[in-house]
Amino acid sequence: MVKETGFYDMLGVKPGCTQDELKKAYRKLALKYHPDKNPNEGEKFKQISMAYETLSDPEKKAVYDEGGEAALKKGGGAGGGFHSPMDIFDMFFNGFGGGGGRGRRERRGKDLVHQLSVTLEELYSGATRKLALQKNVICDKCEGHGGKKGSVQKCTPCRGTGAITKIQQLAPGFVQQYEEVCRNCRGQGEIIDEKDRCKACNGRKTVRERKILEVNVEKGMRDGQKIVFSGEGDQEPELQPGDIVIVLDEKEHPIFKRSGQDLIMNMPLQLVESLCGFQKLIKTLDNRDLVITSYPGEVVKHESVKCVLGEGMPQHKNPFEKGRLIMQFFVVFPDSLPTEVVTALEQYLPQRPVTKIPSTAEECNMVELDPEHDRRGGYKNAYDEDDDHGHGPNVRVQQCASS
Ligand SMILES: [Zn+2]
Ligand SMILES: [Zn+2]
Repeated sequence: MVKETGFYDMLGVKPGCTQDELKKAYRKLALKYHPDKNPNEGEKFKQISMAYETLSDPEKKAVYDEGGEAALKKGGGAGGGFHSPMDIFDMFFNGFGGGGGRGRRERRGKDLVHQLSVTLEELYSGATRKLALQKNVICDKCEGHGGKKGSVQKCTPCRGTGAITKIQQLAPGFVQQYEEVCRNCRGQGEIIDEKDRCKACNGRKTVRERKILEVNVEKGMRDGQKIVFSGEGDQEPELQPGDIVIVLDEKEHPIFKRSGQDLIMNMPLQLVESLCGFQKLIKTLDNRDLVITSYPGEVVKHESVKCVLGEGMPQHKNPFEKGRLIMQFFVVFPDSLPTEVVTALEQYLPQRPVTKIPSTAEECNMVELDPEHDRRGGYKNAYDEDDDHGHGPNVRVQQCASS
């Protein structure tokens, strides 16, 4: 329980407020009552500074909360005494004595978004990638002041706002008012004399720095997934730096296509494999060899689908759980068969249906279909999840070719 709330009331906050709330309250009032803006409110400005200095310092705050202002005046607390209101103000605003104006509110810098291209292998096994970035950091030399203390001047043409209001006549009687970035200060609202400018940053307050980020690509992460480096964005005085956001960009894999946690692959089969059985090797994303074998006597049909459980993509955060490896079989038919084989073969195949041909039936020629019309179905369907053509009327050349 606090003894008195005068300092809290002064800043318009409640005891128990956060440091952020405190800063915000101080910033607002300090700008309002700064002697530049309000020369007659010097006393008020002093009180606000004192209140802020007390409440933002844990030791002084403890003394104040326990014994009130009187306890502080007795010199309680390690620090003792107070800074001048101007010093507090300067410290708070990074040494800018100016009267605020535009852009003084606490804002957050932009997030820097970078795309990182990753292979399916990396998403499967996890990987650490190093990423070199350029970012703005507060200049070390001038600590973000841009120059010597006190060298920062409010820009005259824009009166420190960074913008100049212009009026344009569109038509007689119609005027448009618009703002233009001040050229004198390049929108900064302040000017540092060339001789006072920090040599390291040339008065810009920040310098470009090369930064190497270690990006930990975890097992099972997905295309488009974001990895956030909080507060690693561009630094700017008075701005809370934004984040660096790495967005994963999954590279296409020559064999596997990912579908959620499943991996899908095409597997061509020769007709002999389709009819008489096969063994196939699959190289996994972590370089293991899997062998799959058809059952004796089994015919694996064209466009049929089978899967291996637990050989798909690992689940993110739970990498021992893996999806399925799905194989889609595509039977490669021979273009022709020797005629003497056909009769022999036929006796092993299911009987052909008997076609009754009416005497009036018309004999006609079968020709190749324009292959351009064949592009859409078949192989592509199996790969494109978003392709909803499904098993529409697609006619395969092999099947309708005359022999
Ligand atoms: Zn500098
Ligand atoms: Zn200006």
